[in-house]
Amino acid sequence: PPDVDELGRSTWTLLHSMTATYPEKPSFTQQSETRQFMSLFGKMYPCWVCADDFRAWMKEGNEPRVSNREEFGRWMCEAHNAVNVKLGKEAFDCNRWQERWRTGWKD
Ligand code: FAD
Repeated sequence: PPDVDELGRSTWTLLHSMTATYPEKPSFTQQSETRQFMSLFGKMYPCWVCADDFRAWMKEGNEPRVSNREEFGRWMCEAHNAVNVKLGKEAFDCNRWQERWRTGWKD
């Protein structure tokens, strides 16, 4: 079975990179397919306890926000922070998600 930490780091890289390249003005179809992707991701992520908690988090008022890149990136950052907090790690400053995953650090 995959190592949960290694799997997590690789997966967050994929997920945040997807938000970084998400359109600023996504079509209705792109938004709908992105919601479908996150829903299926929540069922297929190969760490079952992780997937169960992630689906529960999405259900409790955290449905994916896919209206544009900034919204989707922030939502993903909040999703990641929910896991950080659960694991007793520091929350990441979501004002800086584009710096980390798209533009590079400013300083
Ligand atoms: P990661 O948390 O993997 O982060 C990688 C990098 O992302 C960091 O170095 C930082 O630069 C950046 N980053 C950190 N936080 C944010 C943020 N909020 N927004 C943007 N960028 C950020 N592990 C478990 O043990 N139990 C679980 O239940 C669990 N659930 C998970 C659910 C999902 C959907 C995913 C994708 C992973 C889950 N993991 C879980 C794995 C866990 O989140 C970490 O990936 C793993 O613990 C390794 O952590 P890390 O400290 O190396 O950095």
